[in-house]
Amino acid sequence: MAVTVGLVAQIIERIAPKSWAEDWDNVGLLVGSGSATVERILITLDGTLDVVEEAKACGAQLIVAHHPIIFRPLKNLRSDNSAAQVPLRLLHHQIGYYAAHTNLDQSIVSSSQSLGEVMGLEKMEILERTNDQMPSRSLDEPRGYGVSGYLPQPEKLGILWERFLGQLSQPGIYAQHYDLAGVRLAGQLEKEVRKVVIVNGSGGRFVPKALFKGADLIITGDVDHHAVLDALEGGMAVGDLGHFLSEAPMLQALYQYLSAEKSLQGIEILVSSINRTPWI
Ligand SMILES: [Zn+2]
Repeated sequence: MAVTVGLVAQIIERIAPKSWAEDWDNVGLLVGSGSATVERILITLDGTLDVVEEAKACGAQLIVAHHPIIFRPLKNLRSDNSAAQVPLRLLHHQIGYYAAHTNLDQSIVSSSQSLGEVMGLEKMEILERTNDQMPSRSLDEPRGYGVSGYLPQPEKLGILWERFLGQLSQPGIYAQHYDLAGVRLAGQLEKEVRKVVIVNGSGGRFVPKALFKGADLIITGDVDHHAVLDALEGGMAVGDLGHFLSEAPMLQALYQYLSAEKSLQGIEILVSSINRTPWI
């Protein structure tokens, strides 16, 4: 059984309309044709050359990715231009590439939400709401970046963090087993945590907002030195999962969403087994 790339796009855009993406973003079908047929879909965070080869090896006709390719203007499709390699290889193998990026961050499958649920946060709400200017059927539901919420009872940072890392190692939140070695924590282990902010991806810019909201801990990825110092000065601890681990729950959530979709029954959906953090 086969469906069109266009149908897969429509199903994803039901929860993450393209109009939600930021102006600087590049989302939607970036390589391929909406009328091409699909029997197998490979979900990934990054569209690297290795992932394109993985798609080819497993017979996937479509890659559904979180991170766009052709993000910076591509000036040519030369085989000696490293930035052109992924689109060239996709064309060569006739594999389509669909990206849902900042629109997916604001959707019901956002990692911030999944990580908050794993941690057992209560009274979760969106950290930074986005105003809808485009009419959409989700108008009545608030959307935006990150979440804030409360632990059921205050917990010492060190104990909370150990428990959280244990939960991340269990099957459920991630589609694959990932090494948590690159995860970092800054803060006082004995200090009690009650309010937590979670922002998937590069969330360093949300440190001031999390401080303003009175969070005791922010969990995100890619936090730079100065943002960590600002957080600590304000009495807030920082858990840095790294970009990949902070966003990979989205792969699992997207997998579950697509797998539950009736019109995709019979379509094989896989999560990349080689897409990982580039850090070793
Ligand atoms: Zn990202």
